[in-house]
Amino acid sequence: MKNIVRIPFSQHGINERQICKKAQIILNALTKAGYEAYLVGGAVRDLLLGKQPKDFDIATSAHPEQIKKVLPSTRIIGRRFRLAHVHFGREFIEVATFRAPHDKSDKGLVSNDGRIIHDNVYGTIAEDALRRDFTINALFYDLSTGEILDFVDGMQDIEQRQLRLIGDPSRRYREDPVRMLRAIRFMAKLGFSLEPETKSPIRELSPLLSTIAPARLFDESLKLFHSGYAVLTFSLLRKYLLFSCLFPLTEQSLKEEESGLFLNLVMSALNNTDKRIQGNKPVNPAFLFAVMLWHQVKKGEIMYREMGNPELQSMHMAASDILTCQVKSVAIPRRFSNITREIWTMQGRFQFKACRRALNFIENKRFRAAYDFMCLRASSGEPLEEDCEWWTLFQSLSSEDQLTMCNAASPQKYKRSGRRRRRK
Ligand code: ATP
Ligand code: MG
Repeated sequence: MKNIVRIPFSQHGINERQICKKAQIILNALTKAGYEAYLVGGAVRDLLLGKQPKDFDIATSAHPEQIKKVLPSTRIIGRRFRLAHVHFGREFIEVATFRAPHDKSDKGLVSNDGRIIHDNVYGTIAEDALRRDFTINALFYDLSTGEILDFVDGMQDIEQRQLRLIGDPSRRYREDPVRMLRAIRFMAKLGFSLEPETKSPIRELSPLLSTIAPARLFDESLKLFHSGYAVLTFSLLRKYLLFSCLFPLTEQSLKEEESGLFLNLVMSALNNTDKRIQGNKPVNPAFLFAVMLWHQVKKGEIMYREMGNPELQSMHMAASDILTCQVKSVAIPRRFSNITREIWTMQGRFQFKACRRALNFIENKRFRAAYDFMCLRASSGEPLEEDCEWWTLFQSLSSEDQLTMCNAASPQKYKRSGRRRRRK
């Protein structure tokens, strides 16, 4: 193992005031009780890079029960690992006990293909540094001395703006293939490059993502696409052959759809998502899935219609097929997939502009999402410009003017659609 390097404040410049008060309370309480406790991971990395950390994680020599004794508002949680959440009202800070790399002990279990399936093995700070993913994520900040502790030459990689896996890259990706996605996420977020040995195994090992639970991949997908760098993330995921492991149907569409309309749709959606995140506006995962799967769902709908099924039923059947297929790689919790389905099934309603239907439609609680989706389709090249303009204007009017507008809407279109529907 490399020697520990202690970096003083004068060389890193992180000061106490940049660390959230709650994290300081925890660090001080654990140190006072005789335990080692450090700020670690993304917070140290982001502060060094002059970015605002998303969260302040703490690593300590105290075991979860000992943390709870020192800080009674602690709740011990544990799925993959046992972790302490120290609560401050509804907010909490995650405090993890130092863990050893799995191969240091017979208690850490590894499956036949090299995956960690259980690694709740406590260790020393040096061991905890080595079991982390990238060197830049393994820096420990000591609040009591103001020093950063570096066991893996992480500072050097921060300076060189590169991501380097700790240890043998192939082995580390095999242990946890999600590290490949994390590599892409940090590249996009930090603008860092991949150190050549960290980069080289990714394409070959990308299929290992299929061994990861779809629910975990859902969480990772949100981090990938809802962090404000979705456009870049998308192209990097494709470049490293990881995208098709998450969204195989989308990759198939991108290959099939030669006109580029679908790629336009995806790019416009990701661009909008980035803008919304940067503007602190909410984003709904349902929309992301609606976009990613649109081309395949549309294809399915046409197929069912050609088999003689009515339009709406065809869309429902296609939606079920496509969602069932997608959740085999990335799960979509029901609360989101229901909205995705509604966005799709509502697309057919924009052609009906006669009063009763139009007024009912804008009252629907999913109207806004369906409308945004339709206008996105229009802006990415589908022939829906007129519909987008009509509904944009319609929503902005007073009730009286809405009546005038929908009365003037072509009743022929309404009748024509009705006849077509009856024939089926
Ligand atoms: P973010 O800014 O996205 O929160 P982060 O680096 O803090 O980035 P987290 O997912 O919050 O990422 O994880 C906290 C720390 O835990 C990481 O910095 C890293 O040291 C360690 N870690 C997380 N996931 C893994 C993993 N799959 N393998 C090894 N270490 C990991
Ligand atoms: Mg974090």
